[in-house]
Parts: sequence; C-alpha cells; structure tokens
Amino acid sequence: MQSKLDTLLIHGGETTDPRTGAVNTPIYQTSTYAQAALGQNLGYEYSRTKNPTRDGIESLIAECEGGRYGFAFASGMAAIGTILSLFQSGDSVVISQNVYGGTFRILDKVFRHFHIGYKIVDTRDLSALESALTPDVKAVLVETPANPLLSVTPLEPLAALCKKKGVLSIVDNTFMTPYLQQPLKLGIDIVLHSATKYLGGHSDLVAGLAVVDDPALAERIGFLQNSIGGVLAPFDSFLLIRGMKTLGLRMQRHCENALFLAEALSAHKAVDRVYYPGLKGDSEYAAQSAQARAGGGMVSFTLKEGYDYRKFFASTRTIVLAESLGGVESLLCHPASMTHASIPRELRESMGISDNLIRLSVGIEYAQDLLEDINQAIEKSRV
Ligand code: PLP
Repeated sequence: MQSKLDTLLIHGGETTDPRTGAVNTPIYQTSTYAQAALGQNLGYEYSRTKNPTRDGIESLIAECEGGRYGFAFASGMAAIGTILSLFQSGDSVVISQNVYGGTFRILDKVFRHFHIGYKIVDTRDLSALESALTPDVKAVLVETPANPLLSVTPLEPLAALCKKKGVLSIVDNTFMTPYLQQPLKLGIDIVLHSATKYLGGHSDLVAGLAVVDDPALAERIGFLQNSIGGVLAPFDSFLLIRGMKTLGLRMQRHCENALFLAEALSAHKAVDRVYYPGLKGDSEYAAQSAQARAGGGMVSFTLKEGYDYRKFFASTRTIVLAESLGGVESLLCHPASMTHASIPRELRESMGISDNLIRLSVGIEYAQDLLEDINQAIEKSRV
C-alpha cells in the first residue's frame, strides 16, 4: 500500500527551519512579531492571522490533499463552522445522511438561527441529490464513508453535478485521510478534517483542517479564519505535524486490523450485521474501491437477539469505551447515545442508527488480542 504520500508526510510542507536548519518545524510560541519600522515586517504581524508553526501544518495538509491552500483550526467543528460561514441568510446546505452529530447540530441549532437552512439527502442517490439542488442550495457537504453506518457516496459524479449546478462541494475526509482518499483530485471544492482523529493519531490533541485549490475560495476562507479566529495553536500545530509523519504506517495497520476484525465478525454466530466498506460482499465495497485505496479503520456491527449490547459495552478489557476515533488505541462507541445523541431519536432511527449499533475504531494493536477481547465481551453479553 506504500505510495509517494509516505514520503510527502515526512518531508512535505515547510518542515525545515530556514534560520537554523532545524529538521523539525519549531514551535513559534508567540502572539506577535517585532516590526523594523511602520509597515515593515518579515511576513508575520499577529499569530491569529499567521504563525510559522501553523504555516507548517497548513502547507503539509495542502500538499497531502493535492490543493494549494491549507487552513488549520482549533477543532474539526471550528473548521466546519468557519466553512459554513461562507453562506448567507436564505442559503441552504445539503448534508449527506449520517453526518457527524456535531455537524448536524451546528446547522440545526446555530446556523438555522441565521436563516441558513439544511436538507438531509442520501447523497448516494444522484437523482435524489439533483432534485434537492433548489436555487437556495449553495453547497453539498458529504462524509464518505459516513459515520457510523459507513455508507459510501461516489464523489466524482457528485462533484461534476455540483459544478454543473454552481454549488460548492465539500467533503469531510476525517475517516479516510488523504492517505486513502483525495477528494480534491475527484473534483471536490473543499476538503476538511477533524484532525483530532487519524491525522493527529494519538488521541492527544483537538484540531481541524481544510484545504482548497481555488485562490478566490482560499481568500474567502482565509478572511473568515482570521475574522472568526478559531485557529490552531503553535504547540498543537507542532503535535499535528509530528503525528502526521507516521500516518502512512498507522493507516496501513488500521486497515489491516479492521479488515481482519470485519471478516471475523461476519463469521461470528452472535453477530447480526457488519458494516465495513473494505469487506468484499459489503454493499458499499464497489463504490469504496473506486475512490479510496482501502476500507479504513472503522467497523460497525449489531448483535443478534439474545445478546445485550449494554453488557457488551461493559465487558471489553483492551478496547476502551470512549468518544472519538482514529487513535492508535482501539475505541468503542455507542453512536445512539454518544456521537449521534444530538440527532432526535426518530430521525436517528430512520437513518438506521439503532440502539444496538456498536462502532469500533480499530487501533494498531495486535489484531488477535482485539479479536479475543471482542469474543470474550460477546460471550458475556449473552442474555
Ligand atoms: N467530522 C467528523 C467525521 C467527526 O467524527 C468529528 C468528531 O468526532 C468532527 C467532524 C468534529 O471534529 P472535532 O471533534 O475535532 O471538533
């Protein structure tokens, strides 16, 4: 699975320090910069606007995603909030089914108050999407594979339709990372990330990133980033650059372990349904293989009747019950009460997020240890 990205992740962006030759981007822990005279500076005036350590991560993510302009934010939600601030009262945004609960919440509880609407569409269905693109719709925001049922939206036809209709296409690439999927290369306008997840990779920071290739769009986002001010701090920018150096190795192992567990769960007598787009036979496999290099590290499943999911959640030993995903350690999540709790029950259930759905963020541990942990927890969940 190796590719040029393995080298880019280590040597890409503005990594070396031009003043000292330091191999790693230094942490410029400063809010301001001395000016030699009025209007004379070295390109930096104030760190909300521009900071050399943040430049390091912004140029690195831009190169990895194949765009020219990167932006780093204090969280994934800060990135999403800033991007949504591109729109005005009267505009609407189409979101794919099963977007992250926080993305739904910011549209439903924050932007709606500014009269920016939203519509939920199964973006796998291109004709349903086309019918939803009424004149008020200014953007389509998609997660693929979508959290937590891992449904896959084909991006190339979606990008072409959005271009034809003059609508911005936005992809939340958190689950895939540029190592597995590069939406800008498929014609998408804006790619964004919760870098808290795989990009950081160690569950030790909260960060968001966005990348575009169009200079006019970059100027608007740069203006909003500076105006709203939800920027990534220098120390966290450094941590993120450091985390991304091992993204290639980690993603290879996440995918390998996830496939191993998805196959084992599919064959398990207590398991009702497995959702993993990297699994041959999964309904999303063909669409996923057409645009991504592997299935990723997220696996969801349900247990059959006769097994109590609550007991399962209480019984794992190695796999930790916690919010978030994409770290080196395996994490277990109950979407109905955790990531998707902000979506009303009725809507959540109509999306297929039932109470007995279990989501696994498969880490990079020894796969056999993970399987043994799952097997003993299933055994204990028998009623
Ligand atoms: N997008 C996705 C797909 C996520 O899973 C999350 C968080 O879980 C976010 C966005 C929000 O990112 P953050 O928690 O870094 O604000």
